[in-house]
Amino acid sequence: MIRIGRRSFVLRAVATGCLLGVAHTEAFANVDESDPMAVALGYKEDTGKVDSAKYPNHAPSQQCSNCKQFQGGAADTAAGCTLFGGKAVAAKGWCSSWVKKA
Ligand code: SF4
Repeated sequence: MIRIGRRSFVLRAVATGCLLGVAHTEAFANVDESDPMAVALGYKEDTGKVDSAKYPNHAPSQQCSNCKQFQGGAADTAAGCTLFGGKAVAAKGWCSSWVKKA
């Protein structure tokens, strides 16, 4: 049996609570295309629906999942974006701030 002191127990409980809080806040709501910032950046949930006349530098191969700002992994269908704090963008989405992931 492992014995820990009261202080260690309290610190571990606080740390666990903080981690659970972080995990909870990771469940972002999706960015709405009508969100003012999304409109300003031309964000679309589907890179195939980007207006190429309005964004001539857009290419269909560009999508959030291969953007430097995407905070998810290869298997994620949506994840955070550094530009849309607290909200998730679609892995197949796109906006005019797309920058190729290194
Ligand atoms: Fe997607 Fe990148 Fe635009 Fe964020 S910055 S919405 S990850 S294309």
